[in-house]
Amino acid sequence: MAVSVDLDAVACYYRIHALGEPPTGPGRFAILRRCLPRFADLFARHDLHATFFVVGADLEEDAEGRSLLAELARAGHELANHTHTHRYDFARLPYAAMAEEIDRAHAVVGACAGAAPLGFRAPGYAINSDTLDLLRARGYRYDSSVFPSAAYYGAKALVMAAMRLAGRPSGSFLDSPRVLFAPRQPYRPAPTAPYRQGGDGLLELPIAVTPLARLHVIGTSLILAPPWLRRHMVATALRAPFFNLELHGIDLADAEADEIPPALIARQPDLRRPLAQKLAALDETLAAARAAGARFVTLREYSA
Ligand SMILES: [Zn+2]
Repeated sequence: MAVSVDLDAVACYYRIHALGEPPTGPGRFAILRRCLPRFADLFARHDLHATFFVVGADLEEDAEGRSLLAELARAGHELANHTHTHRYDFARLPYAAMAEEIDRAHAVVGACAGAAPLGFRAPGYAINSDTLDLLRARGYRYDSSVFPSAAYYGAKALVMAAMRLAGRPSGSFLDSPRVLFAPRQPYRPAPTAPYRQGGDGLLELPIAVTPLARLHVIGTSLILAPPWLRRHMVATALRAPFFNLELHGIDLADAEADEIPPALIARQPDLRRPLAQKLAALDETLAAARAAGARFVTLREYSA
């Protein structure tokens, strides 16, 4: 089992919800300065190393966040590439612009970690054959962007359509529905079809979804689901050979204490849950995995 955390800044959620200018006060750095240490404590409690997907530009802007991440890397956690500016239209960028997003983050994240990143996750989960081509050329071992969840895809499509109708289009990007038919377990993607098996070298490590219904088993769904459903989803995911659990930095936000702006709290139900409750959901999940015999690895270790 691998646990990863996408460290998307509060500004990313402003773009998804079309909320205009992101906060300039303490909320701006809340993910790295407030949420990240809570993840470090959580993982220490469960004696596991995780993979953090880091946005390059955030490291450049926040020396405090950078030193926290450097410390985590020294303690054995993995830092991986989550692009330089987290553009939701990443999969639509021309080749050179896509390369720049990867390369700038590669340099900054590598300098912070003291080792070149070997893994990548795209903003909004969308990749194309150019992405895989660029990663292969740079010696990456894995990509972990593929998210074949029908429930997530359908909910996202609905929200984006409603926002468009309201004249407030989301900054998010809806991927090709082909992703819904991607394998659920690790595979080597075909060079021209990232959502199909058939390549060599680079590994794709899809984010966990349940079989058949393809419900997404990620931080947000574990936090929002009633306990019986959460336990069921976790038990199902643990039956697969590999459980790739994706979390987000914002999953452990304490909305008021961290000064998350009310406009964003109003849009995201997870931000209205008390921190203690969210921590309990993740604590219980990691304890259940350990009790079921899961062996925790970083995505880099898995790919090796
Ligand atoms: Zn992200």
